[in-house]
Amino acid sequence: MQNSFRNYINGRWETGVTTSTSENPSDLASPVGDYVRGDREQAELAIRAAAEAAPAWGFATPQRRADALDQIGSEILARKDELGELLAREEGKALPEAIGEAARAGNIFKFFAGEALRTAGEKLASVRPGIEVDVTREPVGVVGIIAPWNFPFAIPAWKIAPALAYGNTVVFKPAELVPACGWALSEIVSRAGLPAGAFNLVNGSGRQVGQAIVESRLVDAVTFTGSESTGAQVMQATAARGAKVQLEMGGKNPLVVLADADLDQAVECAVQGAFFSTGQRCTASSRLIVEAAVHDKFVSRLRERMRSLKVGHALARGTDIGPVASRAQLEQNLAYIVIGREEGAELVMGGEEIKAPTPGHYMSPALFLGKPEHRIAREEIFGPVAVVLRADGYEEALAMANDTRYGLCAGICTGSLKHAMHFRRHAQAGMVMVNLPTAGVDYHVPFGGRKGSSHGPREQGRHAAEFYTTVKTAYTHA
Ligand code: NAP
Repeated sequence: MQNSFRNYINGRWETGVTTSTSENPSDLASPVGDYVRGDREQAELAIRAAAEAAPAWGFATPQRRADALDQIGSEILARKDELGELLAREEGKALPEAIGEAARAGNIFKFFAGEALRTAGEKLASVRPGIEVDVTREPVGVVGIIAPWNFPFAIPAWKIAPALAYGNTVVFKPAELVPACGWALSEIVSRAGLPAGAFNLVNGSGRQVGQAIVESRLVDAVTFTGSESTGAQVMQATAARGAKVQLEMGGKNPLVVLADADLDQAVECAVQGAFFSTGQRCTASSRLIVEAAVHDKFVSRLRERMRSLKVGHALARGTDIGPVASRAQLEQNLAYIVIGREEGAELVMGGEEIKAPTPGHYMSPALFLGKPEHRIAREEIFGPVAVVLRADGYEEALAMANDTRYGLCAGICTGSLKHAMHFRRHAQAGMVMVNLPTAGVDYHVPFGGRKGSSHGPREQGRHAAEFYTTVKTAYTHA
Protein backbone atom coordinates (compact mmCIF):
# COMPACT_ATOMS: atom_id res chain seq x y z
CA MET A 1 0.00 0.00 0.00
CA GLN A 2 1.26 3.46 -0.87
CA ASN A 3 2.29 5.89 1.80
CA SER A 4 -0.41 8.22 0.74
CA PHE A 5 -3.28 6.04 1.95
CA ARG A 6 -2.09 5.44 5.50
CA ASN A 7 -2.83 6.79 8.92
CA TYR A 8 -0.50 9.48 10.28
CA ILE A 9 0.81 8.74 13.74
CA ASN A 10 3.69 10.37 15.58
CA GLY A 11 5.04 11.96 12.41
CA ARG A 12 4.98 8.75 10.35
CA TRP A 13 2.57 7.22 7.84
CA GLU A 14 1.44 3.86 9.22
CA THR A 15 -0.55 0.95 7.82
CA GLY A 16 -3.79 0.08 9.61
CA VAL A 17 -5.35 -3.23 10.55
CA THR A 18 -7.73 -3.50 7.63
CA THR A 19 -8.46 -1.56 4.47
CA SER A 20 -11.72 -0.27 3.10
CA THR A 21 -12.88 1.20 -0.15
CA SER A 22 -14.24 4.70 -0.25
CA GLU A 23 -17.27 4.87 -2.52
CA ASN A 24 -18.20 7.48 -5.04
CA PRO A 25 -21.95 8.01 -4.51
CA SER A 26 -22.28 9.57 -7.97
CA ASP A 27 -20.83 6.49 -9.64
CA LEU A 28 -20.52 3.30 -7.66
CA ALA A 29 -18.54 1.78 -10.53
CA SER A 30 -15.61 4.12 -9.93
CA PRO A 31 -14.71 4.18 -6.25
CA VAL A 32 -12.45 6.87 -4.83
CA GLY A 33 -9.81 4.47 -3.49
CA ASP A 34 -8.73 2.13 -0.70
CA TYR A 35 -7.77 3.52 2.69
CA VAL A 36 -6.38 1.94 5.81
CA ARG A 37 -8.50 1.60 8.91
CA GLY A 38 -6.95 1.70 12.32
CA ASP A 39 -8.30 0.09 15.47
CA ARG A 40 -8.43 0.96 19.16
CA GLU A 41 -4.77 0.07 19.64
CA GLN A 42 -3.63 2.33 16.83
CA ALA A 43 -5.81 5.14 18.16
CA GLU A 44 -4.13 4.71 21.54
CA LEU A 45 -0.69 4.98 19.91
CA ALA A 46 -1.79 8.23 18.28
CA ILE A 47 -3.16 9.53 21.58
CA ARG A 48 0.10 8.75 23.39
CA ALA A 49 2.07 10.49 20.63
CA ALA A 50 -0.18 13.54 20.95
CA ALA A 51 0.27 13.58 24.72
CA GLU A 52 4.05 13.39 24.37
CA ALA A 53 4.09 16.20 21.80
CA ALA A 54 1.86 18.46 23.90
CA PRO A 55 4.64 20.35 25.72
CA ALA A 56 6.65 21.00 22.54
CA TRP A 57 3.68 22.38 20.63
CA GLY A 58 2.07 24.03 23.63
CA PHE A 59 5.19 26.12 24.20
CA ALA A 60 5.94 26.76 20.51
CA THR A 61 5.97 30.46 19.76
CA PRO A 62 2.83 32.04 18.36
CA GLN A 63 4.88 32.87 15.27
CA ARG A 64 5.65 29.19 14.65
CA ARG A 65 2.01 28.21 15.10
CA ALA A 66 0.83 31.07 12.88
CA ASP A 67 3.32 30.15 10.15
CA ALA A 68 2.26 26.50 10.16
CA LEU A 69 -1.42 27.36 9.91
CA ASP A 70 -0.82 29.97 7.27
CA GLN A 71 1.11 27.45 5.17
CA ILE A 72 -1.72 24.91 5.48
CA GLY A 73 -4.32 27.53 4.56
CA SER A 74 -2.32 28.74 1.56
CA GLU A 75 -1.89 25.24 0.19
CA ILE A 76 -5.56 24.40 0.59
CA LEU A 77 -6.54 27.61 -1.19
CA ALA A 78 -4.04 27.00 -3.98
CA ARG A 79 -5.40 23.47 -4.47
CA LYS A 80 -9.08 24.19 -3.85
CA ASP A 81 -10.23 22.97 -7.28
CA GLU A 82 -8.45 19.64 -6.95
CA LEU A 83 -9.56 19.20 -3.32
CA GLY A 84 -13.08 20.24 -4.25
CA GLU A 85 -13.14 17.57 -6.93
CA LEU A 86 -12.05 14.93 -4.43
CA LEU A 87 -14.79 16.08 -2.05
CA ALA A 88 -17.39 16.00 -4.84
CA ARG A 89 -16.34 12.46 -5.76
CA GLU A 90 -16.30 11.13 -2.22
CA GLU A 91 -19.25 12.88 -0.57
CA GLY A 92 -21.32 13.73 -3.64
CA LYS A 93 -21.54 17.48 -3.14
CA ALA A 94 -22.01 19.34 -6.44
CA LEU A 95 -18.59 20.53 -7.66
CA PRO A 96 -19.04 24.32 -7.24
CA GLU A 97 -20.23 23.82 -3.65
CA ALA A 98 -17.40 21.35 -3.02
CA ILE A 99 -14.78 23.81 -4.28
CA GLY A 100 -16.40 26.47 -2.10
CA GLU A 101 -16.07 24.19 0.89
CA ALA A 102 -12.39 23.52 0.19
CA ALA A 103 -11.77 27.27 -0.06
CA ARG A 104 -13.61 27.77 3.20
CA ALA A 105 -11.30 25.25 4.88
CA GLY A 106 -8.31 27.22 3.58
CA ASN A 107 -9.72 30.48 4.87
CA ILE A 108 -10.38 28.94 8.28
CA PHE A 109 -6.69 27.99 8.62
CA LYS A 110 -5.71 31.52 7.54
CA PHE A 111 -8.08 33.03 10.09
CA PHE A 112 -6.68 30.93 12.94
CA ALA A 113 -3.12 31.65 11.81
CA GLY A 114 -3.95 35.24 12.77
CA GLU A 115 -5.66 34.19 15.99
CA ALA A 116 -2.48 32.37 17.10
CA LEU A 117 -0.86 35.81 17.18
CA ARG A 118 -3.79 37.56 18.80
CA THR A 119 -4.33 35.31 21.83
CA ALA A 120 -4.77 37.91 24.52
CA GLY A 121 -5.22 37.90 28.27
CA GLU A 122 -6.24 40.41 30.90
CA LYS A 123 -4.28 42.31 33.48
CA LEU A 124 -6.12 43.58 36.52
CA ALA A 125 -5.16 45.30 39.71
CA SER A 126 -5.67 43.02 42.68
CA VAL A 127 -8.11 44.00 45.41
CA ARG A 128 -5.12 43.52 47.74
CA PRO A 129 -2.18 45.93 47.81
CA GLY A 130 1.08 45.10 46.03
CA ILE A 131 -0.37 42.27 43.98
CA GLU A 132 -0.95 42.04 40.24
CA VAL A 133 -3.36 39.65 38.59
CA ASP A 134 -2.88 38.21 35.09
CA VAL A 135 -5.51 36.13 33.37
CA THR A 136 -4.05 34.17 30.46
CA ARG A 137 -5.15 31.42 28.10
CA GLU A 138 -3.18 28.19 27.81
CA PRO A 139 -3.65 25.12 25.61
CA VAL A 140 -5.96 22.42 26.98
CA GLY A 141 -3.60 19.60 25.91
CA VAL A 142 -4.65 16.72 23.65
CA VAL A 143 -7.78 17.39 21.63
CA GLY A 144 -9.71 14.47 20.11
CA ILE A 145 -11.56 15.47 16.94
CA ILE A 146 -14.47 13.32 15.76
CA ALA A 147 -15.98 14.59 12.53
CA PRO A 148 -19.07 13.78 10.43
CA TRP A 149 -19.16 13.08 6.71
CA ASN A 150 -21.26 15.95 5.41
CA PHE A 151 -18.56 18.68 5.42
CA PRO A 152 -15.40 16.58 5.19
CA PHE A 153 -13.06 19.56 4.76
CA ALA A 154 -14.79 22.47 6.49
CA ILE A 155 -15.72 20.77 9.77
CA PRO A 156 -12.32 19.13 10.37
CA ALA A 157 -10.72 22.46 9.43
CA TRP A 158 -12.78 24.41 11.94
CA LYS A 159 -11.69 21.97 14.64
CA ILE A 160 -8.05 21.27 13.66
CA ALA A 161 -7.15 24.92 12.97
CA PRO A 162 -8.15 26.38 16.37
CA ALA A 163 -6.83 23.32 18.21
CA LEU A 164 -3.37 23.83 16.69
CA ALA A 165 -3.52 27.64 16.77
CA TYR A 166 -3.99 27.67 20.54
CA GLY A 167 -1.19 25.14 21.08
CA ASN A 168 -3.07 21.85 21.49
CA THR A 169 -2.07 18.57 19.90
CA VAL A 170 -4.60 16.62 17.86
CA VAL A 171 -5.92 13.15 17.18
CA PHE A 172 -8.30 13.42 14.23
CA LYS A 173 -10.86 10.76 13.30
CA PRO A 174 -12.78 11.48 10.09
CA ALA A 175 -16.12 9.80 9.40
CA GLU A 176 -15.75 6.41 7.73
CA LEU A 177 -17.65 7.60 4.69
CA VAL A 178 -15.02 10.22 3.80
CA PRO A 179 -11.54 8.87 4.56
CA ALA A 180 -10.01 10.32 1.38
CA CYS A 181 -10.90 13.88 2.34
CA GLY A 182 -9.63 13.28 5.87
CA TRP A 183 -6.41 11.92 4.44
CA ALA A 184 -5.94 14.76 1.92
CA LEU A 185 -6.36 17.40 4.61
CA SER A 186 -4.03 15.53 6.95
CA GLU A 187 -1.39 15.14 4.26
CA ILE A 188 -1.25 18.93 3.93
CA VAL A 189 -1.09 19.37 7.72
CA SER A 190 1.69 16.75 7.91
CA ARG A 191 3.99 18.96 5.83
CA ALA A 192 3.53 22.13 7.89
CA GLY A 193 6.53 21.63 10.18
CA LEU A 194 4.70 20.54 13.34
CA PRO A 195 6.63 18.43 15.86
CA ALA A 196 6.09 14.67 15.50
CA GLY A 197 2.89 13.68 17.30
CA ALA A 198 1.36 17.18 17.33
CA PHE A 199 -1.12 16.12 14.67
CA ASN A 200 -2.33 12.55 14.11
CA LEU A 201 -4.84 11.05 11.70
CA VAL A 202 -6.57 7.77 12.52
CA ASN A 203 -9.11 6.57 9.99
CA GLY A 204 -11.28 3.78 11.34
CA SER A 205 -14.67 3.08 12.86
CA GLY A 206 -16.48 5.11 15.48
CA ARG A 207 -16.73 2.07 17.69
CA GLN A 208 -12.98 1.42 17.69
CA VAL A 209 -11.16 4.67 16.98
CA GLY A 210 -13.90 7.07 18.07
CA GLN A 211 -14.52 5.33 21.37
CA ALA A 212 -10.80 5.04 22.11
CA ILE A 213 -10.52 8.83 21.73
CA VAL A 214 -13.58 9.49 23.84
CA GLU A 215 -12.55 7.13 26.63
CA SER A 216 -8.82 7.81 26.87
CA ARG A 217 -7.69 9.64 29.99
CA LEU A 218 -4.90 11.18 27.91
CA VAL A 219 -7.40 13.10 25.77
CA ASP A 220 -8.14 16.35 27.57
CA ALA A 221 -10.90 17.61 25.31
CA VAL A 222 -13.19 16.05 22.71
CA THR A 223 -14.87 18.03 19.97
CA PHE A 224 -17.60 16.10 18.20
CA THR A 225 -19.92 16.89 15.31
CA GLY A 226 -22.43 14.27 14.30
CA SER A 227 -25.75 12.77 15.21
CA GLU A 228 -27.58 13.27 18.47
CA SER A 229 -27.40 9.60 19.38
CA THR A 230 -23.61 9.38 18.99
CA GLY A 231 -23.29 12.77 20.68
CA ALA A 232 -25.11 11.41 23.72
CA GLN A 233 -22.61 8.55 23.97
CA VAL A 234 -19.68 10.93 23.60
CA MET A 235 -21.17 13.14 26.29
CA GLN A 236 -21.59 10.27 28.71
CA ALA A 237 -18.08 8.89 28.27
CA THR A 238 -16.35 12.27 28.50
CA ALA A 239 -18.45 13.37 31.48
CA ALA A 240 -17.58 10.14 33.28
CA ARG A 241 -13.90 11.03 33.18
CA GLY A 242 -14.32 14.81 33.52
CA ALA A 243 -12.95 15.76 30.10
CA LYS A 244 -13.88 18.94 28.31
CA VAL A 245 -16.45 18.30 25.58
CA GLN A 246 -18.11 20.18 22.78
CA LEU A 247 -20.97 18.65 20.79
CA GLU A 248 -22.53 19.93 17.57
CA MET A 249 -25.48 17.78 16.57
CA GLY A 250 -28.66 17.85 14.57
CA GLY A 251 -31.16 20.47 13.51
CA LYS A 252 -34.74 20.83 12.31
CA ASN A 253 -34.35 24.39 11.17
CA PRO A 254 -37.38 26.55 10.38
CA LEU A 255 -37.60 29.10 7.59
CA VAL A 256 -40.55 31.42 8.23
CA VAL A 257 -42.05 33.13 5.19
CA LEU A 258 -44.35 36.03 6.01
CA ALA A 259 -46.96 37.53 3.70
CA ASP A 260 -44.86 40.68 3.26
CA ALA A 261 -41.78 38.78 2.07
CA ASP A 262 -40.26 39.15 -1.38
CA LEU A 263 -41.58 35.81 -2.61
CA ASP A 264 -38.88 35.22 -5.23
CA GLN A 265 -36.26 35.76 -2.57
CA ALA A 266 -38.13 33.51 -0.14
CA VAL A 267 -38.37 30.72 -2.71
CA GLU A 268 -34.64 30.99 -3.39
CA CYS A 269 -33.89 30.86 0.35
CA ALA A 270 -36.08 27.78 0.68
CA VAL A 271 -34.54 26.00 -2.31
CA GLN A 272 -30.98 26.70 -1.24
CA GLY A 273 -31.58 26.00 2.41
CA ALA A 274 -33.62 22.85 1.97
CA PHE A 275 -32.13 21.13 -1.05
CA PHE A 276 -28.61 22.30 -1.82
CA SER A 277 -25.90 19.94 -0.61
CA THR A 278 -28.68 17.35 -1.04
CA GLY A 279 -30.20 18.58 2.23
CA GLN A 280 -27.29 17.03 4.12
CA ARG A 281 -26.58 20.05 6.27
CA CYS A 282 -27.23 20.43 9.95
CA THR A 283 -28.45 23.95 9.09
CA ALA A 284 -30.82 22.80 6.31
CA SER A 285 -34.27 24.44 6.28
CA SER A 286 -36.42 21.36 6.61
CA ARG A 287 -39.50 23.20 7.93
CA LEU A 288 -40.92 25.95 5.73
CA ILE A 289 -43.44 27.84 7.86
CA VAL A 290 -45.54 29.99 5.56
CA GLU A 291 -48.14 32.61 6.43
CA ALA A 292 -51.57 31.52 5.17
CA ALA A 293 -52.05 34.59 2.94
CA VAL A 294 -49.15 33.56 0.68
CA HIS A 295 -49.11 29.82 1.33
CA ASP A 296 -50.53 28.63 -1.98
CA LYS A 297 -48.61 31.17 -4.05
CA PHE A 298 -45.36 30.25 -2.28
CA VAL A 299 -45.90 26.52 -2.76
CA SER A 300 -46.70 26.95 -6.43
CA ARG A 301 -43.59 29.09 -7.05
CA LEU A 302 -41.44 26.72 -5.03
CA ARG A 303 -42.66 23.75 -7.07
CA GLU A 304 -41.91 25.62 -10.26
CA ARG A 305 -38.37 26.41 -9.05
CA MET A 306 -37.87 22.80 -7.89
CA ARG A 307 -38.74 21.58 -11.37
CA SER A 308 -35.70 23.47 -12.68
CA LEU A 309 -33.29 21.79 -10.23
CA LYS A 310 -30.94 19.32 -11.83
CA VAL A 311 -30.13 16.22 -9.81
CA GLY A 312 -27.03 14.48 -11.11
CA HIS A 313 -23.41 13.41 -10.92
CA ALA A 314 -21.57 15.71 -8.53
CA LEU A 315 -18.91 16.47 -11.16
CA ALA A 316 -21.32 17.09 -14.05
CA ARG A 317 -21.65 20.65 -15.26
CA GLY A 318 -25.01 22.14 -14.28
CA THR A 319 -25.73 19.75 -11.40
CA ASP A 320 -27.58 21.57 -8.62
CA ILE A 321 -28.07 18.59 -6.35
CA GLY A 322 -25.62 15.71 -6.16
CA PRO A 323 -26.44 12.20 -4.99
CA VAL A 324 -27.21 11.25 -1.40
CA ALA A 325 -23.90 10.41 0.29
CA SER A 326 -24.63 6.75 1.05
CA ARG A 327 -27.12 3.96 0.52
CA ALA A 328 -28.00 4.01 4.22
CA GLN A 329 -28.79 7.75 4.09
CA LEU A 330 -30.84 7.29 0.90
CA GLU A 331 -32.85 4.52 2.53
CA GLN A 332 -33.45 6.73 5.57
CA ASN A 333 -34.69 9.55 3.32
CA LEU A 334 -37.02 7.22 1.40
CA ALA A 335 -38.32 5.72 4.65
CA TYR A 336 -39.30 9.23 5.80
CA ILE A 337 -41.19 9.75 2.52
CA VAL A 338 -43.27 6.69 3.43
CA ILE A 339 -43.70 7.87 7.03
CA GLY A 340 -44.83 11.31 5.84
CA ARG A 341 -47.48 9.84 3.57
CA GLU A 342 -48.66 7.33 6.16
CA GLU A 343 -49.13 10.11 8.70
CA GLY A 344 -51.28 12.07 6.25
CA ALA A 345 -48.85 14.67 4.92
CA GLU A 346 -49.36 15.48 1.25
CA LEU A 347 -46.33 14.78 -0.93
CA VAL A 348 -46.61 17.45 -3.61
CA MET A 349 -43.39 16.73 -5.40
CA GLY A 350 -40.35 14.43 -5.65
CA GLY A 351 -39.16 11.99 -3.02
CA GLU A 352 -38.28 9.24 -5.46
CA GLU A 353 -35.12 7.32 -6.15
CA ILE A 354 -33.80 8.34 -9.55
CA LYS A 355 -31.89 6.29 -12.11
CA ALA A 356 -29.00 8.25 -13.60
CA PRO A 357 -26.51 7.40 -16.38
CA THR A 358 -24.07 6.28 -13.68
CA PRO A 359 -25.11 3.98 -10.81
CA GLY A 360 -25.41 6.08 -7.64
CA HIS A 361 -27.63 7.12 -4.74
CA TYR A 362 -29.86 9.66 -6.48
CA MET A 363 -33.20 10.99 -5.31
CA SER A 364 -35.46 13.84 -6.34
CA PRO A 365 -35.94 16.64 -3.79
CA ALA A 366 -39.20 16.17 -1.92
CA LEU A 367 -41.78 18.71 -0.83
CA PHE A 368 -44.58 17.88 1.60
CA LEU A 369 -47.51 19.89 2.89
CA GLY A 370 -47.81 18.82 6.49
CA LYS A 371 -48.70 19.59 10.07
CA PRO A 372 -46.36 20.43 12.96
CA GLU A 373 -47.07 17.10 14.65
CA HIS A 374 -45.94 15.00 11.68
CA ARG A 375 -42.66 13.17 12.23
CA ILE A 376 -41.27 14.66 9.00
CA ALA A 377 -41.76 18.07 10.66
CA ARG A 378 -40.15 17.05 13.94
CA GLU A 379 -37.28 14.65 13.21
CA GLU A 380 -34.05 15.39 11.41
CA ILE A 381 -34.09 13.54 8.08
CA PHE A 382 -30.75 14.85 6.75
CA GLY A 383 -31.83 14.63 3.13
CA PRO A 384 -33.50 16.78 0.44
CA VAL A 385 -36.91 16.66 2.10
CA ALA A 386 -38.82 19.75 3.24
CA VAL A 387 -42.27 20.18 4.71
CA VAL A 388 -44.41 23.29 4.36
CA LEU A 389 -46.44 24.23 7.44
CA ARG A 390 -49.23 26.79 7.25
CA ALA A 391 -49.26 29.54 9.93
CA ASP A 392 -52.05 31.98 10.65
CA GLY A 393 -49.81 34.96 11.28
CA TYR A 394 -46.42 35.98 12.62
CA GLU A 395 -47.07 34.94 16.23
CA GLU A 396 -48.15 31.46 15.23
CA ALA A 397 -45.22 31.15 12.82
CA LEU A 398 -42.77 32.09 15.58
CA ALA A 399 -44.34 29.60 17.99
CA MET A 400 -44.08 26.86 15.34
CA ALA A 401 -40.48 27.80 14.59
CA ASN A 402 -39.59 27.36 18.26
CA ASP A 403 -41.64 24.20 18.71
CA THR A 404 -38.70 21.81 18.34
CA ARG A 405 -36.10 20.05 20.46
CA TYR A 406 -33.44 21.58 18.25
CA GLY A 407 -32.09 25.11 18.11
CA LEU A 408 -29.32 25.43 15.56
CA CYS A 409 -30.53 27.97 13.00
CA ALA A 410 -33.80 29.79 12.30
CA GLY A 411 -34.63 31.97 9.31
CA ILE A 412 -37.29 34.48 8.38
CA CYS A 413 -38.20 36.09 5.08
CA THR A 414 -40.03 39.35 5.60
CA GLY A 415 -40.10 42.96 4.47
CA SER A 416 -40.98 44.09 7.97
CA LEU A 417 -38.19 45.42 10.15
CA LYS A 418 -40.43 44.98 13.17
CA HIS A 419 -40.93 41.26 12.55
CA ALA A 420 -37.30 40.73 11.56
CA MET A 421 -36.09 42.36 14.79
CA HIS A 422 -38.61 40.48 16.91
CA PHE A 423 -37.67 37.18 15.29
CA ARG A 424 -33.96 37.81 15.81
CA ARG A 425 -34.61 38.29 19.51
CA HIS A 426 -37.19 35.54 20.05
CA ALA A 427 -36.07 32.67 17.80
CA GLN A 428 -34.67 29.96 20.07
CA ALA A 429 -31.63 29.20 17.96
CA GLY A 430 -27.90 29.80 18.01
CA MET A 431 -28.01 31.44 14.58
CA VAL A 432 -30.72 33.56 12.93
CA MET A 433 -31.01 34.49 9.27
CA VAL A 434 -33.11 37.35 7.93
CA ASN A 435 -33.93 37.12 4.21
CA LEU A 436 -31.20 34.51 3.82
CA PRO A 437 -31.16 30.71 3.66
CA THR A 438 -30.66 28.99 7.03
CA ALA A 439 -27.62 27.21 5.59
CA GLY A 440 -24.53 29.15 4.55
CA VAL A 441 -22.49 30.88 7.24
CA ASP A 442 -19.31 32.93 7.54
CA TYR A 443 -16.11 31.34 8.80
CA HIS A 444 -14.96 34.07 11.18
CA VAL A 445 -17.93 34.26 13.57
CA PRO A 446 -19.39 31.80 16.10
CA PHE A 447 -21.25 28.73 14.87
CA GLY A 448 -23.49 26.58 17.03
CA GLY A 449 -26.91 26.13 18.52
CA ARG A 450 -29.10 25.71 21.55
CA LYS A 451 -31.32 23.01 23.01
CA GLY A 452 -30.66 19.55 21.52
CA SER A 453 -28.43 20.91 18.75
CA SER A 454 -25.31 21.76 20.67
CA HIS A 455 -23.51 21.42 23.93
CA GLY A 456 -20.52 23.39 25.14
CA PRO A 457 -18.84 26.52 23.83
CA ARG A 458 -19.38 27.75 20.27
CA GLU A 459 -17.12 26.77 17.41
CA GLN A 460 -15.37 29.15 14.99
CA GLY A 461 -14.38 32.76 15.16
CA ARG A 462 -12.77 34.17 18.28
CA HIS A 463 -15.25 32.25 20.45
CA ALA A 464 -13.36 29.06 19.57
CA ALA A 465 -10.81 30.07 22.23
CA GLU A 466 -13.35 29.13 24.91
CA PHE A 467 -13.08 25.46 24.06
CA TYR A 468 -9.50 25.20 22.86
CA THR A 469 -7.89 27.02 25.77
CA THR A 470 -8.02 26.88 29.52
CA VAL A 471 -7.79 30.03 31.60
CA LYS A 472 -5.07 30.61 34.17
CA THR A 473 -5.26 33.34 36.81
CA ALA A 474 -1.83 34.27 38.15
CA TYR A 475 -1.22 36.46 41.25
CA THR A 476 2.17 38.12 41.57
CA HIS A 477 3.38 39.90 44.69
CA ALA A 478 6.07 42.28 43.51
P1 NAP B 1 -22.56 10.13 13.32
O1 NAP B 1 -23.00 8.85 12.77
O2 NAP B 1 -22.95 10.50 14.70
O3 NAP B 1 -20.97 10.13 13.19
C1 NAP B 1 -20.19 11.24 13.56
C2 NAP B 1 -18.80 10.76 13.91
O4 NAP B 1 -18.85 10.01 15.13
C3 NAP B 1 -18.19 9.83 12.86
O5 NAP B 1 -16.82 10.09 12.75
C4 NAP B 1 -18.44 8.46 13.49
O6 NAP B 1 -17.56 7.48 13.02
C5 NAP B 1 -18.19 8.76 14.94
N1 NAP B 1 -18.74 7.77 15.87
C6 NAP B 1 -19.72 6.86 15.66
N2 NAP B 1 -19.94 6.13 16.78
C7 NAP B 1 -19.08 6.59 17.71
C8 NAP B 1 -18.83 6.25 19.06
N3 NAP B 1 -19.51 5.29 19.69
N4 NAP B 1 -17.87 6.93 19.73
C9 NAP B 1 -17.18 7.91 19.13
N5 NAP B 1 -17.37 8.28 17.84
C10 NAP B 1 -18.31 7.63 17.14
O7 NAP B 1 -23.00 11.35 12.39
P2 NAP B 1 -22.86 11.47 10.80
O8 NAP B 1 -23.88 10.55 10.21
O9 NAP B 1 -21.44 11.34 10.38
O10 NAP B 1 -23.27 12.97 10.56
C11 NAP B 1 -24.60 13.38 10.41
C12 NAP B 1 -25.09 14.09 11.64
O11 NAP B 1 -24.19 15.16 11.95
C13 NAP B 1 -26.43 14.75 11.47
O12 NAP B 1 -27.24 14.50 12.59
C14 NAP B 1 -26.12 16.22 11.39
O13 NAP B 1 -27.12 17.09 11.79
C15 NAP B 1 -24.93 16.32 12.26
N6 NAP B 1 -24.14 17.52 11.94
C16 NAP B 1 -24.17 18.56 12.83
C17 NAP B 1 -23.47 19.71 12.57
C18 NAP B 1 -23.49 20.84 13.55
O14 NAP B 1 -22.56 21.60 13.56
N7 NAP B 1 -24.50 20.97 14.38
C19 NAP B 1 -22.72 19.83 11.41
C20 NAP B 1 -22.73 18.77 10.52
C21 NAP B 1 -23.43 17.60 10.80
P3 NAP B 1 -18.01 6.50 11.81
O15 NAP B 1 -18.19 7.32 10.62
O16 NAP B 1 -16.86 5.61 11.71
O17 NAP B 1 -19.26 5.83 12.27
